[in-house]
Amino acid sequence: MTENFTGNFTQQEAIPDEGIAAALEVLKSGRLHRYNVAAGEDGETALLEQEFATQMGAKYCLAVASGGYALATALRALEVQPGDKVLTNAFTLAPVPGAIASVGAVPVFVGVTENLVIDLDDLAAKAHQADVLMLSHMRGHLCDMERLLEICDAQGLKVIEDCAHTMGARWNGVLSGRQGVMAAYSTQTYKHVNSGEGGLLISDDDALMARAIMLSGSYMLYERHLARPPVEAFEGVKYVTPNISGRMDHLRAAILRPQLRDLDTQCARWNDRYRVVEDGLRDTPGLTVVERPEAEFYVGSSIQFLLLDWSEDNVNEVIRRCLARGVELKWFGGAEPAGFTSRYDSWRYAPSEPMPASDRVLKGIVDMRLPLTFSLEDCALIARIIRAEVSAVWQGGFA
Ligand SMILES: *Cc1c(COP(=O)(O)O)cnc(C)c1O
Repeated sequence: MTENFTGNFTQQEAIPDEGIAAALEVLKSGRLHRYNVAAGEDGETALLEQEFATQMGAKYCLAVASGGYALATALRALEVQPGDKVLTNAFTLAPVPGAIASVGAVPVFVGVTENLVIDLDDLAAKAHQADVLMLSHMRGHLCDMERLLEICDAQGLKVIEDCAHTMGARWNGVLSGRQGVMAAYSTQTYKHVNSGEGGLLISDDDALMARAIMLSGSYMLYERHLARPPVEAFEGVKYVTPNISGRMDHLRAAILRPQLRDLDTQCARWNDRYRVVEDGLRDTPGLTVVERPEAEFYVGSSIQFLLLDWSEDNVNEVIRRCLARGVELKWFGGAEPAGFTSRYDSWRYAPSEPMPASDRVLKGIVDMRLPLTFSLEDCALIARIIRAEVSAVWQGGFA
């Protein structure tokens, strides 16, 4: 009998009760704006920033409206100018080149390896073109961070980390987001904590964070931030930094705080699911599992595998057959951008030289979400279905 999966790939878990209760308190107070606080009250947003900074071991944190906004704010804080080139990954999500374009800068794409990380040789070759690298840890894959920093330090490249899929991940024990001058996280529904929309920006740099806080629309109320640089850091910047409003509100902050307290548990639960699917896919003929390095503590909130050198028709046939059995795979490599575009040549506002080695990898990437609403049995079933359908197509069940 053919097994089918009936779960929902876009269904997240409920907001924890503690978050719902805190949200109700905010709603009853009527004070939703982050600077609308009663006497003696810190406010949910400032407390969220303080707690996230502590959790990440960062000096400063700013909560904002989205992950993409956090990335654009980091570029502005670094004073990237219109026309400047900014290096970034050829394999990433649309908000990353979008953030670069939003400040009038020009994305320069760096290739991707079969391990789905930035190609460090290509980075070394292109490093002289820019002052900033927006490093996207796309789909949670961390590159060799020591070698990356060596290349960037040698070339004077400043690194902004896009940690949308690495909140809670570590490289050689160092939390993701602690190696660049600034790091951005997303709290959008499909990331590691869920406030619908939202973003967090961390840094240890006084001037960068003072600018970021002014940019986010703090009016002259920056003193109310708990995870901010000393007031003197604002002296030089407060008159010359434009307000580009993108604040977070108390309601979202209220539902995020309890989720952040559970982050390590949730990461472990994602990894349990990831490993079941990975084990189930291993040694499937024609399918390449993406091996994870020892130094990487990843968060398996999604899984990728490669159908390297497969024809478009055959990849489409795998996707179609899996979908018919309830398993929703995304082919990041499709020529026509659909849903979540993730390859450099789909952003036609930022033309690039072709990168044949990267194209080969990008054409073969298949992606699947692993929401925590799936049980381990669900994950085993999903892996059996993918394995059967990939094998069938590979063995020529489809011409
Ligand atoms: C989700 C995501 C972002 C930011 O997303 P927002 O929707 O703006 O919060 C940035 N980079 C990557 C790789 C992402 O997946």
